[in-house]
Amino acid sequence: MTTVLLIEDELELSRVLKSYLEKAGYTVLAAARGDTGLALFNQQKPDLVVLDLNLPGMDGLDVAREIRRKGNCPLMMVTARVEETDRLIGLELGADDYVIKPYSPREVVARVRAVLRRSACSSGPAVQSLKADGLEINLESHEVRRNGERVDLTPTEFNLLTTMAAEPGRVFSRLQLLEAGQGVAYEGYERSIDAHIKNLRAKIETDPKKPHYIQTVFGVGYRFLSRQA
Ligand code: CA
Repeated sequence: MTTVLLIEDELELSRVLKSYLEKAGYTVLAAARGDTGLALFNQQKPDLVVLDLNLPGMDGLDVAREIRRKGNCPLMMVTARVEETDRLIGLELGADDYVIKPYSPREVVARVRAVLRRSACSSGPAVQSLKADGLEINLESHEVRRNGERVDLTPTEFNLLTTMAAEPGRVFSRLQLLEAGQGVAYEGYERSIDAHIKNLRAKIETDPKKPHYIQTVFGVGYRFLSRQA
């Protein structure tokens, strides 16, 4: 049983989305406040959280931070604030996807399914692990270790890393990485990749300011560990 926690204070919206998600086969827990949503999260350990940004009780951003502090539960942010900065904040918090209100419940269900599919490791790839300079990525268990120590990545960060690490030296554009990380590429959102890369570097690099694994190719994008560099 896959459980989705829906934290949304607009009750009608919450009711409609809940019924769509249930029709899609998910068990849905709903909370109308940030603080009660976080409490439910801690008690019930859902498989994915759909989180509104603007909430009573506790702000959605704070809820997201708390959820992230506790691990890598897939997180989908919902916002009515359309400014680019808010989107970026959402991504810097390690959100795996985000939707802008007003949205179609059908679309949200499709996105939930996509995020869960990406975070699961069902279809086993031929290669089971990627290794480079002390970094080990297990493609089956989704475990990443650096010098033997476990590094916790969000599903989006994991997808970005494996996309690049599978082809060391290849330069990926932001749009290509956006597609790999989110499953969909939205033109104009390419810069949001920079936020994910920043988070990823903070987790895997010894010195994120002088990255070893993920190199910036100015004016183009990023690449993983080019020997020629
Ligand atoms: Ca709200």
